Amino acid sequence: MTQGHGAWGTGRGQAGCPSPPVSRPSPLLLVCLVLAGCSTVPLALPLPARRALQAVATALHPTPSGLAHQYQDYVGVLHVHTDVSHDADGTFDDVVRTANAHAIDFVTITDHNTLHHLREGRQGWHGATLILVGSEISARGGHYLTLGITEEIDRERLTTQQVIDETARQGGLGFIAHPYFAKRRWADWSVTGFNGIEIYNVAHDTMDEHKLRLAVWALTSPQDLFFWSVLNRPYDPLRTWDELIARHGPLTGIGATDAHEFHALGITFAPYDVMFKFARTHLLVPDETLTAEGIYTALRQGHAYVAVELLDQAKGFTFTVEDHGRVVGVMGDMVPWSPDLRLRVHLPATALLTLVRDGQAVQTTIGDAWDLPLPAPGVYRVEAARHNKPWIFSNPIYVQTAPDDAPSPDAPPEPAATP
Ligand SMILES: [Zn+2]
Ligand SMILES: [Zn+2]
Repeated sequence: MTQGHGAWGTGRGQAGCPSPPVSRPSPLLLVCLVLAGCSTVPLALPLPARRALQAVATALHPTPSGLAHQYQDYVGVLHVHTDVSHDADGTFDDVVRTANAHAIDFVTITDHNTLHHLREGRQGWHGATLILVGSEISARGGHYLTLGITEEIDRERLTTQQVIDETARQGGLGFIAHPYFAKRRWADWSVTGFNGIEIYNVAHDTMDEHKLRLAVWALTSPQDLFFWSVLNRPYDPLRTWDELIARHGPLTGIGATDAHEFHALGITFAPYDVMFKFARTHLLVPDETLTAEGIYTALRQGHAYVAVELLDQAKGFTFTVEDHGRVVGVMGDMVPWSPDLRLRVHLPATALLTLVRDGQAVQTTIGDAWDLPLPAPGVYRVEAARHNKPWIFSNPIYVQTAPDDAPSPDAPPEPAATP
């Protein structure tokens, strides 16, 4: 699908990766393992929902800069491991210190199959960062990243679908983690009820590299440069995300740092300091004060975009649908189509922009703003690249056939035309 547009270079292979070690592995293996991760859409909105949507839209300022007054752009780091996981050495305090230093608004710590830090009462504000605790569950069908759960889930006893259902029963939300990561690929695509998918996972991307190159780079280069060198567009997760949306309806795409900082030979590998710049997920939240519920709600609604910020900050990115200058939808929203709608993109820096509609790249441009007509209903999202590397992935805006135009299922068939 999107591999067709040439701005991205070549697609990715699926290189293997060793399983997590039981005892301390060799340095070469460590270098490899450090990165190892270990609402159905209604076809037409009912009129009350449409009016409510329009009322919300009317309240929005008509320009993207005004939109910022309605939604705060909070930057977060999702999918972080600490020394509670068998394959990481970084501590809870290391996470807090690094997040504070980088002005990260929120972090979700998701150690393997445990809510340890939640039980220890550590969820909450630490400095200027809200730390939330979830768990990365090793389900039979793959790793499932859960947030907002309060009880540990018995993965041994439950099927993959039951793990997803139990997460929802607890009021939590969950995401399919690194779906194409070798040896931890997601295997059960029959599941339903998940909230989204990791469209970018640092561990998956970096572990696809040749192992020797990985080792040499990590030992000899500033690690920022190393990670920059291995960054690639996540073709398979993006294609799968588009296909899942076509099948299930809206699903939120998130970026996962999957940070496993560990220490060996006096060196800190995959340091939080670098990983926390690598894959970030920004959330649009209407509240002046960030709360756990505000984060979970934005994630459920897809009010989110993913950014790689090793070189360039992404805050200030907006992707909206406008009607005569009035914002009627942001990322994650469902918008009834009308012929006057326009898509608008604003960026904090010039980039190569690609518009994706229903999984197909349909248009590109270069600039820090884009204003283009919205020709038809569809699932629209935007990708931005700088320095020939991925930079920003928006969540989609779901533009649907307007209720007034949709054929009623009870309407009699049109009489056949007579010649
Ligand atoms: Zn994992
Ligand atoms: Zn992980």
